[in-house]
Amino acid sequence: MQRRIGVHTSIAGGVSIALERAGELGCSTVQIFSHNPRQWQAVPLPEEQASRFRELRVLYGIDPVFIHTSYLINLAARSDEILEKSLRLLVREMDLADTLGADYVVLHTGSAQDSPGEARARAVKALRRVAGEGEWKAGLLLENTAGERGDISSTIGELAEILTAAAVPLLAGVCLDTCHAFSAGYDVADSAELAAEIERNLGTAKVKLIHLNDSKRSLGARVDRHEHIGEGAIGGEGLKKFVSHPAFRAIPLVLETPKKSEDDDRRNLETVRRLLRQ
Ligand SMILES: [Zn+2]
Ligand SMILES: [Zn+2]
Repeated sequence: MQRRIGVHTSIAGGVSIALERAGELGCSTVQIFSHNPRQWQAVPLPEEQASRFRELRVLYGIDPVFIHTSYLINLAARSDEILEKSLRLLVREMDLADTLGADYVVLHTGSAQDSPGEARARAVKALRRVAGEGEWKAGLLLENTAGERGDISSTIGELAEILTAAAVPLLAGVCLDTCHAFSAGYDVADSAELAAEIERNLGTAKVKLIHLNDSKRSLGARVDRHEHIGEGAIGGEGLKKFVSHPAFRAIPLVLETPKKSEDDDRRNLETVRRLLRQ
């Protein structure tokens, strides 16, 4: 099968419009928010929007579909109020994903205000609670973060620790973000080393999605700043080495590169396709 390549498209105008955008860009996979990611309240999704979404997906052959969760969710929060709101919203994200027929939901596990170990333990407990709240077709993926202050899952080992400790079928695997990995100190271009690290800790089969982003900042900078493909510190060749490693060759790629206009998406997609052809 041809490699699945897509971008994160905007839902301005409705979720089905996000698929129209992906279709126009020639995407074979897509990531969207299912609601405004900066609000705790996810407004109800009109059924005609959801059914249009499911239709367009088949029409455009967009598969798999990924939903990125709200930035507000913090399963490691110390505040009971934030933690409860996070749990409720994550359950809602899973419900919305099933309504849309999405395959996976991508989550940044959380950020610690205290010791990362305790924060991870809280996140594990929270994930187990969410898993007890329902059964969903969509699977939940944990994304590696850039290693900024308080990040509780920026290393492969930490992701593996959370997956193993939570041990719930809800957790289908991980999403690997190349900008975040690089910021957290992994030399993405050294794909053999990274593949070995993933195989040792997680098993490559657990990687269901790659967020393909270049990085504005240097290796190990621990700052999350995405850059256009080939214009950042990883560079086009580095990214190419990573995604064409045999371990990662079949994993869908979704770009979360800077976007001032849809032309930016078109240009970055073209760069990726060119890199993969070379
Ligand atoms: Zn990402
Ligand atoms: Zn990021």
